[in-house]
Order: sequence, then C-alpha cells, then structure tokens
Amino acid sequence: MRKIGIMGGTFDPIHIGHLMLAEWAAGAAGLDETWIVPTGISYQKAGRNVLPGQERLRMAELAVEGNEKFRCLDVEVSREGYTYSYETLEQLRLSFPDCTFYFIMGADCLYSMERWKYPEKIFQNAILLAAARGDVSMDRLRDKRQELLQRYGGEIQLLPFLPLPISSSIIRERIQNGLSVRYMVPDKVLSYIEEKRWYLDT
Ligand code: ATP
Ligand code: MG
Repeated sequence: MRKIGIMGGTFDPIHIGHLMLAEWAAGAAGLDETWIVPTGISYQKAGRNVLPGQERLRMAELAVEGNEKFRCLDVEVSREGYTYSYETLEQLRLSFPDCTFYFIMGADCLYSMERWKYPEKIFQNAILLAAARGDVSMDRLRDKRQELLQRYGGEIQLLPFLPLPISSSIIRERIQNGLSVRYMVPDKVLSYIEEKRWYLDT
C-alpha cells in the first residue's frame, strides 16, 4: 500500500506553515506522497470573500513546484457547490484502492471536526495526523484524541509540531495594510499575488 498524505485547506493563500506541516507529517508518518487539496466553496468560510478555487489551487501549485513528493489536487475546487472533506476522502479511496490515506491537520481542527459533516466517515477512510502547535498542550490533545476515538473509532496520530504563529488571515491583513509578506509565502507565490494584486482590498 502506498501511504498518501492529504492536506486540505482553504489556502487563501498557502503559506510556509502549511508547507512545513506537510513536510513534517510526511517525515513522521513515512508518507510516499502528499496531496494538497484546496477546498471548493467551504461552508465554514461562507460569508468571507475567498479567492476563487482555481486561483488558490494555482498558488498551491506554485508553492510545491520542484518537490516531486508534493502535488495538488483539483477535486474540490472543480466540484459544484459546498465541498466536504468526507466526500473527498471517500472519492479518493474509491479511485486509489492501493493507497492508505493520512489526513493531515492542525490541532485546531481536532477540536472543530465534530462539527464537520459526517466526521465518522473521515475516520473510516483515513488515519488522522494531527499536529500539536504548542498553543494546545500535548496532555489536552491526548484527552481530545481519546474522546474522538471513543466516539468514532479509527486512528489518530499526534504529531509534535512547532508553534508557528502564521496564518493566511495574517498574510491577507498585512497585504491590505501595505506590509511585506516576503518569506511568509514561497517567492513564486509572492510574485503571483503581487502580479494579480490579490488581497489589496477585501
Ligand atoms: P485562515 O487564517 O484564513 O483561517 P489558515 O492559515 O488557518 O487560514 P487554513 O487554510 O484555514 O489556513 O488551514 C489549512 C490547514 O493548515 C488546517 O489544518 C490548519 O490547522 C493548518 N494550519 C494553518 N496554519 C498553520 C500553522 N501556522 N501551523 C500549523 N498548521 C497550520
Ligand atoms: Mg484557519
């Protein structure tokens, strides 16, 4: 079985926190490849002005250029309507029966995923890799892990990670305020954002 990491996110825009998390997860779980999956219209972010899926996908593609173990999937951005992680994982399982999927997420998502649609189907189709970012203690994460396992079964691996206080929100806000985001995103992503004049106003 090939081991494939799946990293979903809005990626508006993708940044070094996302890339480092994917890289650390790949190393910790011995993944053969990691697939970055920008969300389509996420019902959780409905209301905010999110860049079109194809643009967020384009930035993700620029970010992983040159890394043959990372690639980006358009499964969610090309789907109509709201997209849900459980659907993507079900679809991937059917399309790639020779792969074991590892769903990579920040620990913040471990706390919110019970409010996602059909969390049990996520556990049925993937092993969860949850990164502890230092903002939540390992002890609390272990408790949360036990609670989720009792409720849904499946497998959750905790991944020690750095507290890296970077987010797409901070990046958008800095751009809006005329501040530099160089080194917060890969150079190619920065050039693309500047060329397209993204995030100057929201
Ligand atoms: P926003 O600020 O718009 O919410 P974000 O930076 O949190 O954006 P998302 O696209 O919402 O990025 O997150 C995608 C995934 O990346 C989630 O699993 C989230 O936990 C994780 N993630 C985001 N930022 C970091 C970071 N600095 N360190 C580790 N994981 C992160
Ligand atoms: Mg977020």
